[in-house]
Order: sequence, then structure tokens, then C-alpha cells
Amino acid sequence: MYILVINAGSSSVKYKLFDMKGNSVIAEGIVDRIGLEDAFLKHQTSNAKETKIDSDIDNYDKALKLITDILVDKENGVIDSLKSISAVGHRVVHGGEKASSSVLITPEVEEIIKECFDLAPLHNPPNMMGIEACKKILPHVPQVAVFDTAFHRTIPEKAYLYAIPYALYENYSIRRYGFHGTSHRYVASRACEILGKPEDKVKMITCHLGSGCSITAIKDGKSVDTSMGFTPLEGLIMGTRSGDIDPAIIFYLVERVGLSVSEVNNMLNKQSGLLGLSTVSRDMRDLEQEVSKGNKKAQISIECFAYRIRKYIGAYASAMAGLDVVVFTAGIGENSSKTRAMICDGMDFLDMKLDSEKNSQLEGEGIVSRDDSGVKILVIPTDEELMIARDTMEIAQG
Ligand code: ADP
Repeated sequence: MYILVINAGSSSVKYKLFDMKGNSVIAEGIVDRIGLEDAFLKHQTSNAKETKIDSDIDNYDKALKLITDILVDKENGVIDSLKSISAVGHRVVHGGEKASSSVLITPEVEEIIKECFDLAPLHNPPNMMGIEACKKILPHVPQVAVFDTAFHRTIPEKAYLYAIPYALYENYSIRRYGFHGTSHRYVASRACEILGKPEDKVKMITCHLGSGCSITAIKDGKSVDTSMGFTPLEGLIMGTRSGDIDPAIIFYLVERVGLSVSEVNNMLNKQSGLLGLSTVSRDMRDLEQEVSKGNKKAQISIECFAYRIRKYIGAYASAMAGLDVVVFTAGIGENSSKTRAMICDGMDFLDMKLDSEKNSQLEGEGIVSRDDSGVKILVIPTDEELMIARDTMEIAQG
């Protein structure tokens, strides 16, 4: 069974074609710079053959046409006919309060995605264009929506409400939604598989540390709290996003420093976080190099980054009244043993003990806690696309 996974962003469409027999990716690629002069398609097959096509791609219909054409192309393709594609899974960022799991896309589901345009103006509109384009090219193929927010729909009221006038929740749906849900769900389920633990009897904290970062408390298989909120700006320190700050800083910047609201918005989203603090880079690899050269600002930026995560781990252990498992994932979580060590340092009081040797030597997936650590610490490479493909297959099979 072949499942096509589509991630349509504001200027690109990423895709992966899965052969679900072995959960393997047989082709993947990206159509990038949609609507710009130098748009292109980059396509790679499982035998590492890479193709790049420069083309005039000014809309999502053309992007999807290029993708489906190359999948069946005589020279660069991997399937004989588009009829081999059993279903298409779409990453959709925001499902608001209505979407609590992945679903077959129907006119009602499209309405839900559109209702969330205001909540995710950069993501949901292109997600929807990807869906519309796919429906035109593959009209008889089931299309499935997998929402980033859906996993967090189990978060209780006391954790999703902000302490602002209740009418703002009622009238404007202002509440915590949480994001990266597909990633948190994937690594949580994989951690239980590795540890041989039943998902419904575990208190777990999953740390998705990439360019964007979020941390989730998962109790008995359900998300009960997460650090991203109404938007993906809240919570942890990220590559360029500030995460939690005192909201009064915004009034100060507008009223006293003279920045416009859009300048502050841009600053908090694009010039803050690791980049803002270090002043040199948003990228953890660069920062680790800078630290080795003695750069103090790079050092403090990483310390702030790790400290914020430690605070959340403490808070979430307390929210769940216990902790059994901590998982690290995404670019930094998977690869930076130094950051993991900094986060876990001195957490013995929680019975969370990192094995420094296992931690520094691990490549890929594995357990990095000491054998006598009550809390198991794991590193699990995330695979959101595989999760989307699995959901899609399950729904398409009815
Ligand atoms: P996204 O997919 O959201 O762009 P990633 O999950 O790829 O982000 O994570 C990007 C982050 O991971 C960057 O800060 C990058 O420096 C960091 N990263 C990737 N590899 C390493 C590594 N080997 N050591 C330290 N940090 C790494």
C-alpha cells in the first residue's frame, strides 16, 4: 500500500511516498520557492537518485502536478501509475477545538480547517491549498488531515485556559492549543514500544527540541499540558522565538521604546531565542562551536535554553504527580548530547539520572539513563511523516 504524505507550507510543498509494507520511504522531495522566479522541484528516490527540475511554479496546483508527474516518471519515478496511491495524508497545523484526531477530509473537515485560518494564518491557508490541489489531481483517492494540534485536545481546562477575561475564550477561542502534536505522539508511542510499557500507564515528558521547541506532559497516553500555547511562540526558548516572556515587555517596547506592534511581533518570532541571546546564530551547532572558542554569549544562550527546559520538566512532573520517562527528539534533542547533559544535570532528586557515557556515545535511537535511574531517559528521532502515513492508512482502510 502506497501512501503519499504532503506538507504544504507558505512557499513550499514537501512530500514523501511511503510503501507501508515496510514503513519505508520510496521517494521524497520538495517543491520550493513557489510563486518566486527560481522555483524548483528536488526529488530523491530510495536508491539515492536525486533530480532537480527548475520550473515556473506559481501555484499549488502546479506544484502537486510536478510531484505526481515525477512519481510516475519513466526515468525518475517509483510507481507505474497514480492509481497505486491508496491515500494522501496532509499535515494540517491547526484544527482548533473541533479536531481531536486525524480524519478523512470531507466538506465539514475543510470548514474546520478554514475556520482556523485566523488562528494559523501562515499555515492553514497553504495546508488547504495543498488539499485542494491534491483533490483535483487524485479525485478518487481518500485524503486525510493529520492536525498538529489534535494530540493536545485532551489537555484539561485548568491547563488550557489563560487567566484573562473568560469572554475572550468564549468569543475569540483564545486558549492553549499546543503544536508539534504528531511528533510528541510518535515519540511517546515509540518510547513505550522500546521500554515495553503500556501507553496507558506511563507519566512521560517529551521534549521536541528543533528550530521550534516544545515540551509536553503525557499521562497515560494523553497530552495533559504542553508549552506552546495559543500560538507556537509560547514556552521554551527556540532558534529565533523568545518563548515565555513577561507580556508587559511588549507594552514597554511599544510605549517606551517606540517599536510598532508588527516590529515587536517580528522581533519575538524571528530575532529572539538562541539567536537573540547569542547574537551570532540560531543554530545549536554554531553555538556549540562558538562556546568552544570561548564565546560567553553563546554559552549563556545555551544555559538559558537548558534552564527553561529544566523548569518545565519540574513543573510537568509536578502536574502529573510523578514521572517515569523523558524523551528527547528533533535536531537538538536527537543530536546535542551536551544540551541533554545540561538539561539532566542534577536531576537526581527526581530519580532522573543520565548515563554520561551512553549519552555521549549514542547515535540514533536509544536509552541514555543509568540502569539505576527510576526515570528512563530516551533519545528517539522523530518521524512525523511516518505517523501521518500510519494514520492515513488506518483511516483509508476504514
Ligand atoms: P526543524 O526541522 O524544525 O528545522 P530540526 O529538528 O532540524 O529543526 O532542528 C534544528 C536544530 O537542531 C538546529 O539548532 C541545529 O543546530 C540542531 N542540530 C542538528 N544537528 C545537531 C548536532 N549534531 N549537534 C547539535 N545540534 C544539532
